[in-house]
Amino acid sequence: MQESIPLQSWNMWAQYVAYGLAGIAVLIVLGHVLKLFITRDFKSKYDYINANEINLLWFASIAVISAVAFYANAFMQEISILWIFVRAFVTISMGLIIGVIVQNSLKFYYPFYVEKRLKKLRYRPRISPKSGKPMKLLSEEEEDVYLDEGMQAEEDVFSIDYDVWIDEDTGYTKIEKYSGHLHANQCPECNYQTMRVIKEELLKSPTNDEEGELEKYFNCGYCGYKTRKTVKVAKLQSATSEEAHV
Ligand SMILES: [Zn+2]
Repeated sequence: MQESIPLQSWNMWAQYVAYGLAGIAVLIVLGHVLKLFITRDFKSKYDYINANEINLLWFASIAVISAVAFYANAFMQEISILWIFVRAFVTISMGLIIGVIVQNSLKFYYPFYVEKRLKKLRYRPRISPKSGKPMKLLSEEEEDVYLDEGMQAEEDVFSIDYDVWIDEDTGYTKIEKYSGHLHANQCPECNYQTMRVIKEELLKSPTNDEEGELEKYFNCGYCGYKTRKTVKVAKLQSATSEEAHV
């Protein structure tokens, strides 16, 4: 039985690799939790979660699955070449199946949970650095006064939302930008949180006296459902006409 020596060193290395991968997974998750903990600003936290959380959990899952795959094969006794192939095949198949299940959960179910947290973060009252008191979120109508023309145009034309928070005591304002392209909505067809704006087209430019029209194209990443919505673009506001919004 000549194979016993390479088999032993395989067992040893497979354990090292398994521990290493498990360590990487733990570091990814701990790093993420730490980052969430030290990010005090709600908007920064929102952006960080929106951009990274699902990807990070996916990388950690891949590391865990690979770690388990190595560990499961780290205690081999004398074994024939055929059995090595069988084990490799079974391990890889199992790994892929579990990987697909985890990936689907992260892509289609987990976003509901993320969405709930994001909503909370977006609407949790900001604290004014001037007075230390909670600020007030202005409504769409009220906020226009605080947005410059470029921001207003952006808000109308692209899938971008500006939230304006105001400290009513001192007049201090904080403006936060939310992009629809980076954020998925619920699909009316499959109900997953997987529908995004993929394209926007200005059908009619707004003028000083007339509203414009914008076509938004949505595409669902899960079921492929496509839809479009025509939305009104607010009239261009000249400095004197503040009554445009009724
Ligand atoms: Zn869908």
